[in-house]
Amino acid sequence: MSVLHGYAGNILRVDLSSGRISTAATSDYASFVGGRGLAARVHWDEVMPEVGALDPENRLTFFTGPLAGFAGFGSSRWLVCGKSPATDPEHFCHSNLGGTWGVTLKSAGYDGIIVQGQAERPVYLLVSQDGAQIRDAGHLWGKGAIETREMLKAELGADVNVVACGQAGENLVVMASVLADQDSSGSSGFGAVMGSKRLKAVAVVKGGTRLTAANPARLRDLVRYYAHLQGDRDADYFTVPGKTQRDSCWGCPGLCGRIAWKAADGAEGKYFCQSALIYQIRAAQFYGQGKEGDVPFRVTKLCDNYGIDTMAVHVMMSWLSRCHREGLLTEEATGLPLSKGGSLEYAEALVRRIALREGFGGLLAQGVERAANAIGRGTREKIGDLLHKAHGVDQYGGRTYITNGLMYATEVRMPIQHLHKTSIPVMQ
Ligand code: SF4
Repeated sequence: MSVLHGYAGNILRVDLSSGRISTAATSDYASFVGGRGLAARVHWDEVMPEVGALDPENRLTFFTGPLAGFAGFGSSRWLVCGKSPATDPEHFCHSNLGGTWGVTLKSAGYDGIIVQGQAERPVYLLVSQDGAQIRDAGHLWGKGAIETREMLKAELGADVNVVACGQAGENLVVMASVLADQDSSGSSGFGAVMGSKRLKAVAVVKGGTRLTAANPARLRDLVRYYAHLQGDRDADYFTVPGKTQRDSCWGCPGLCGRIAWKAADGAEGKYFCQSALIYQIRAAQFYGQGKEGDVPFRVTKLCDNYGIDTMAVHVMMSWLSRCHREGLLTEEATGLPLSKGGSLEYAEALVRRIALREGFGGLLAQGVERAANAIGRGTREKIGDLLHKAHGVDQYGGRTYITNGLMYATEVRMPIQHLHKTSIPVMQ
């Protein structure tokens, strides 16, 4: 096998229908660069156009790139890819996560995992330097993604890294997310793709694979240049003294706003970016500025545990509130306390009903556009500019950052991490 610098060298393939597990050399796919390149190659070669996102024939792929594992860049990043149920019409999409799961996979000797088929019963995958096993996940099915992660760590050891879906994924909610260590979450509906395969989690045991760079000196220069571009900016938009602390992903200078929150009862978890923003303003308006306490953090954790994309929840809440104001949807018809938007009670009811497909939540589980189409009565018009705003066209548009224009033109989804990575250095 030829040496591929920056790669661990192997790609694992797991067929959940037959139980067959095999390993291929990453060099077999080497003409396609990076995690997304490898995932796109698998999708292009193996997933026919007529295959639906939730069909067993869809490939669910977990990939890292050649920079993962080399500290100094955003080198924690890794991807979950495949045909996405959150897109309409469905198409190949990606979800980009940080934390520690990706580098742990690489330390175990794998650049990626390709999952195909559908298991007869709920299973999880245990991956280590010695290979992989498909294990029974009957005791994990019905649990939240955070609960699943903690249960597997208790069983397998704290060093194990876990990516899991919550109840939303099991119930094939189109905006179901995946959640990994350090509360790294990924959208594009891949939680539902895990659910469709009856794959509850992928647990990876840390290994000792050594990575080589083709030109270590040049890599060090690039790390220094990157640090210089970042400057000494200390992003503190979400910081609350006494409540929060910096929580950077593996190997990252961490100059974004990634922080963890500590609630009054000792509960901890991520609290940054969109996951923080979805309920911060709403809760402040409902409880009164400064009295919202831990509520926005609790809502972030709620979404993470049920395994629902916070941005999709944000759009859903805005649309429901518009429809309620206009008298198009009522509390009686939806069974939701729509007049209490911003309260913990409202968020708990909404997220639970969507994740468990309870009552009106079953309709919402299809996503805002399909739900509005099914309801009719002018509710579709109330979506208006919500999706446009949610996709960041105002903040990151090509008129402000010319390079971002190219990304909007060529990307399969809102490329939020790449938009950040371009915009933040340019802002300095
Ligand atoms: S910039 Fe922030 S979110 Fe991105 S890898 Fe670094 S710490 Fe993680």
